Amino acid sequence: MWSLLEVVSQVVTRRAAWMAGARVAPGMLDALVAAELARPDASETLEAHYLLAMPALRARQLEGPSGVEEKVFGTPLALRRMPRLKDALDALFALVSDAGLSCAACLGAPTPPELVEGRTLGEVYEQCHFGSFMPMLYAYPGDLEDALLRAPVGFIDERLVGPLVHELCHFHAGEPPAPANVNEALAAWIGSEAWPAQVRPGRDEHDAIPGAAWFAAVGGFIARMLGEREALRLQAGALDPRDAFGAPCAEALRLYGFLPFLESGAPHLLSDAFHPARWWKLLDLHRDAGLARDFHDRLVRPLLAGGPARQLDWDEALDALAWRDLPAWRDAPGPVDTKLAALAERALSVRAERRGSTFFVARADPPDPLKLDPDACEIRAPWPGPDALGAPAVFPWPPALCAQTRLV
Ligand SMILES: [Zn+2]
Repeated sequence: MWSLLEVVSQVVTRRAAWMAGARVAPGMLDALVAAELARPDASETLEAHYLLAMPALRARQLEGPSGVEEKVFGTPLALRRMPRLKDALDALFALVSDAGLSCAACLGAPTPPELVEGRTLGEVYEQCHFGSFMPMLYAYPGDLEDALLRAPVGFIDERLVGPLVHELCHFHAGEPPAPANVNEALAAWIGSEAWPAQVRPGRDEHDAIPGAAWFAAVGGFIARMLGEREALRLQAGALDPRDAFGAPCAEALRLYGFLPFLESGAPHLLSDAFHPARWWKLLDLHRDAGLARDFHDRLVRPLLAGGPARQLDWDEALDALAWRDLPAWRDAPGPVDTKLAALAERALSVRAERRGSTFFVARADPPDPLKLDPDACEIRAPWPGPDALGAPAVFPWPPALCAQTRLV
C-alpha cells in the first residue's frame, strides 16, 4: 500500500502532466488523476481519449479553417435574430441570479448580451466548463450536415440552443460536484428548468438533448432533497457535497459513479444514466442511519478495502430496496415532486432516433396511456422497448406522490 506522501506526490505529478497536455476542466482533472491512480493500466486509454481524440475534435470545431464548422462556430451571434437563444439565456440568467449566485461567476458574463452579442459560438463555447479541451456535444460533424445550406445564425437558433444551454449549465466552478454523474445530472436539471425544450421539444423544435431527462431526474431529486436554490449552489461549487449530503453519502456517490471505470477501465468516467431510480435510492438511503450503515458495511467498505469493483452488486442492492422502506416515501409531497412527475411524463413522450451518424429527439405520443406502479415508484409507457439511444420506456415517479395514492 502506498504511503500518504507517495500518493500526494503522484497526484501532484499527474495533475501537472495532464495540464501540460490540455486545459483539462476542474473536477475532470481530479477524476482523471483518481482514475489513473486506481487503475494505472488505463492510463494510455485515458490519455488517448482526453489528450488526443477529444481535443482533436474540439480543434476541428473551433479552428476549422473552412467548411461547415467555420460557418457554425465562426459567425458572430446576434440575439435580435435569435429569439430562442434569447429566451433560453434570459431564463437561465434569471434562475442563477434568483439562487443568489453571480451570473458573471457562474455563466461567464453578467447578462446574456454580454455573454454572446457579437461573439462567435466558438468564442462562447471555449469559455464553457468543458470548452477548454472537449468538443461541443451535438455539434459533431454528423450534427452539422444540415447547416451547409442554412444561414448560420438561424441554424444555431434552431438546433444548438439546447446543447449550448447544457454546456453553460455546468457553470464555472473551481470545484464542481463529484462524481461526473452528479455534475451532469445538475446541468441537465438546471438546463431543463431554463429551457424545457431540452427535454421535450415542441412540435417544430429540434434542439432536445438525447437522454437529458434521465440525467435531469437525478438532478431534480437532489433539488428535492436540498432545495432548488441549494442545488444550483452545489453545481456552482458554493456548497460542498459532503456538507450537502453528509460525508458517507458523498463518498458512496463518488464510488458508484466510478464503478464502471473501476470495473472495465473504459475511458468514459460516467456511470449508467438510464436508471435514475438507483441514484435516487442511493441518495435517499443515507437519510436513514440504519440503512446507510448496512449499505456501507456491505458495499462501500469492502470496495475501499480493495475488494472487487462490481457494478452489478451495487445495482442489485439498490434495486432490492423497497421505496416503502425509504425516507422519501414518508415525506410530504413538495413542489419539486410535481416537477419530477411532469419530467417523467415528458421523458416518456419523446423518442431518440438515429439519423446518419447522430441521434435526433422527436416528440412521440405513446400509443396508450402511461401506467403508474405506485409500489415500484415508476411510470411506464407502452413502447415496445428502449429507443435508439437505449433510453428505457420506464421512468421513476416521486415516492412521496406514490405514498399518497396508497393512503386512499
Ligand atoms: Zn454535460
